[in-house]
Amino acid sequence: MRLLHVAAEVFPLVKTGGLADVVAALPVAQAEQGADVRLLLPGYPAVLEAVQGARTIIDIGACFGALRVRLLLARMPGSKLPVYVIDAPYLYRRDGSPYQNLQGEEWPDNLQRFALLGWVAAHLAADDADPLWVPDIVHAHDWHAALACAYMAEHGPTRAASVYTVHNLAFQGLFPMHDWPALGLGSRLMSPTGLEFHGQLSFMKAGLKCADRITTVSPSYAREIATHEFGCGLDGVIRGRGADVVGVLNGIDPALWNPATDPAIATRFDAERLAGKHACRLALQAELGLQADEGGEAGQGSLLLTVISRLTAQKGLDLVLAALPELVRAGVQFAVQGTGEPALEAAFRMAQQAHPGRVHVHIGYDEARAHRLMAGADVIAVPSRFEPCGLTQLYGLRYGTVPVVRRVGGLADTVVDASPAALADGSATGFSFDAATPAAFERCVRRALELRAHPAAWQALMARGMAQNYSWQGPAQRYAALYEEALGQRGRVGLVGAG
Ligand code: ADP
Repeated sequence: MRLLHVAAEVFPLVKTGGLADVVAALPVAQAEQGADVRLLLPGYPAVLEAVQGARTIIDIGACFGALRVRLLLARMPGSKLPVYVIDAPYLYRRDGSPYQNLQGEEWPDNLQRFALLGWVAAHLAADDADPLWVPDIVHAHDWHAALACAYMAEHGPTRAASVYTVHNLAFQGLFPMHDWPALGLGSRLMSPTGLEFHGQLSFMKAGLKCADRITTVSPSYAREIATHEFGCGLDGVIRGRGADVVGVLNGIDPALWNPATDPAIATRFDAERLAGKHACRLALQAELGLQADEGGEAGQGSLLLTVISRLTAQKGLDLVLAALPELVRAGVQFAVQGTGEPALEAAFRMAQQAHPGRVHVHIGYDEARAHRLMAGADVIAVPSRFEPCGLTQLYGLRYGTVPVVRRVGGLADTVVDASPAALADGSATGFSFDAATPAAFERCVRRALELRAHPAAWQALMARGMAQNYSWQGPAQRYAALYEEALGQRGRVGLVGAG
């Protein structure tokens, strides 16, 4: 089967979150299972510089406000996966993130930038771009790629089916309705039963309404987004798609996140060689200026808790900030790394100043550092208000860094709370809490502190987490079955139902 993944980011070229990790690892797992997989990416400078052997497939010419647009075919560095790159200097060749300028403002022409991405995908699907390769499946990721599904539906039957994956329903790609003509889509879709969302034009709805199948990144999140509480105003649309919406849990790249081979950490380790984790812990405390103690291996001393996250309201880090003084008094050390909302960044900086030697905060994005935090910490906290899948708790499990998570979305699907029953039957892998309150978070961390006072029980918990298999093999098989179903249902989607 020929698969085209369409996305706005891919690790390690361009990454703002978990989407990039998924787009890097899933295609490789699918290729290993025999699929003929390619990526389609916007030609940001970091992409054009990194890909190898780029050659022009077609000169597209002027479109979406750009004068010079070409479609290149190259290979990803490392995996050698074929990647189509849209070279449109006017739209993509600029500093900043894929979505925002250096001041953190959305690029004013994001509509054109990401409409072009979907439009090129649809042309590849319609055998109109690369005479040598036509996909069977166009797999569009998040709102940035969602218009692919609308352009494909508009064009009429092709041999390709579309699959749309929601990585985060909160980011929807909303634009003024008066920008509609720039899309070049027919007026059929210009209504609440199409792409209109409360008077705005929604890229997210293009995926939700037009894709042959819809997936999201965990079974719990698939159920949650059909409810008013988590549906971000789109729960009616999602319920309208019924059984077409399914959750497929993300995997992790087992080569990239492997404490036994990780080149970024002080000492390598695995479940049989936990002394290495203890060495990583001491190295981390020294690096961050945290008080060194005999924690870790012996189960004594501080509980070293890490957070590696975007600093946004979604991630519930205000709960961490509110509970932090009490938890420091109870013997918890904090090592926080993240970027995001200025108010949260400032609050974490102040927490560091207030608790020297107990709290370390790094405002910034740093992959190697994230590996060192993951290896050295005892616990990783992910107290999200909502969490489609979450990857850091999975990395934590692999590194013997016990997750403390809120019981939502993918966190609920991947962490088994250390209740007395789960400890007794050996299924526990971490700690979870329900209420999005500082008190509930604090109680949960205190439960971790208590269990850690029992080294044998704690090490059994770590070992169970480390034994979990979150490779991409299972999810890749699940997607393969979904693609077959989507091909069977191609073009069946009617643009009727809830608005
Ligand atoms: P989201 O996609 O909502 O940001 P995920 O948990 O799915 O959350 O993925 C986050 C990814 O980004 C993980 O790979 C995590 O390690 C990484 N990450 C987040 N913030 C940072 C940071 N400041 N430095 C390094 N890596 C980070």
